[in-house]
Amino acid sequence: MAIKVAVNGYGTIGKRVADAVAMQKDMKLVGVTAHSYSFNTEVAKQKGYKIFTTDGDSDLKANGINPDGDIKSLLEEADVIVDATPKKIGKENLKMLYEPRKVKAIFQGGEKHETIGISFVAQCNYNEAVNRDYVRIVSCNTTGLCRTLDAVNKKYGIESVHATMIRRGADPWDIHHGPINAIVPVLEMPSHHGPDVQTVLHDVEIFTTALSVPSTLMHLHAVTVDLKKKANAKDAIELFRNSTRIRVVRNAEHLRSTAEIMEFARDMGRLRGDMPEICVWQEAVGVISNAYNKLLYMQAVHQESDVIPENVDCIRAMMGFKDGEKSIKMTNETFGIK
Ligand code: NAD
Repeated sequence: MAIKVAVNGYGTIGKRVADAVAMQKDMKLVGVTAHSYSFNTEVAKQKGYKIFTTDGDSDLKANGINPDGDIKSLLEEADVIVDATPKKIGKENLKMLYEPRKVKAIFQGGEKHETIGISFVAQCNYNEAVNRDYVRIVSCNTTGLCRTLDAVNKKYGIESVHATMIRRGADPWDIHHGPINAIVPVLEMPSHHGPDVQTVLHDVEIFTTALSVPSTLMHLHAVTVDLKKKANAKDAIELFRNSTRIRVVRNAEHLRSTAEIMEFARDMGRLRGDMPEICVWQEAVGVISNAYNKLLYMQAVHQESDVIPENVDCIRAMMGFKDGEKSIKMTNETFGIK
């Protein structure tokens, strides 16, 4: 029987999760919520998704949308709900909506690890989510770091990591956030990303710094890893090439920037023009010549989409599907990830 999935919070992440769930043969999307009327609601209606109201729904009917019920009736139909509401609302929903009705729920990176208890990146710790009631998908940046660092850790062993996150200022549609003419450092050491990586890769020592720039397309990470074993750049590139949900991109392809990578995703006909793989630049993988155990690389992270396959795998894990590799393969096929 198909797993019945609901989505609460139909924005950047929620609408992508809904589309991804609708593509899975073993899942059924039972509905999405609309907190207020917008073009997102119109598209959900066009796609034939059932629309359920939250407390802030008063303008739906006024705009010609007849809801199929409210969030409480949606929860009655769902085996698992994916909460993709803005940060801190998931915590309230857990207490007020999901726990009282005993509905399994997935939360996003805006919620704190401590609130949910388990943080998830499929290729790193799938087993931790099996049969659990509440799991958090880590943020886009943390997902990106975990994917590549997990591969490096398994092959070479990690002594320690320093990574700097150059973050997009806002999502492409977002007219409220920035900066539009500044580079803004995160004035805390470490940035929250390092401790967040450790909620998934529990034994990796990592220190992160971060800054935001006037760009909307992707984040860029500059990563330096002290390894337990010596490495060379060629082997490290092969490692990334052979790891799931990581794509090695090259100067020769003219994939020299976040802009060209996103154009490539659109040209490939990816759903929404998304790039859920973490893109590592081949020419930016290196080892310091007199210290072969220091690996450096740069990677690009499509913030809107890298966490979407994670949500899909997490649904299977929480519903008791034990084979993480198989789940990743099933999900990858629907996204066109090789
Ligand atoms: P968003 O603002 O794009 O979407 C949130 C949606 O929730 C909106 O449609 C809004 O109308 C709706 N909403 C607001 N209050 C609600 C409520 N009380 N009940 C139901 N719906 C409500 O936000 P987003 O970027 O999709 O972020 C959602 C979560 O995903 C956050 O935890 C965020 O940290 C995380 N996340 C975001 C990104 C990203 O780059 N956008 C990447 C990874 C993770």
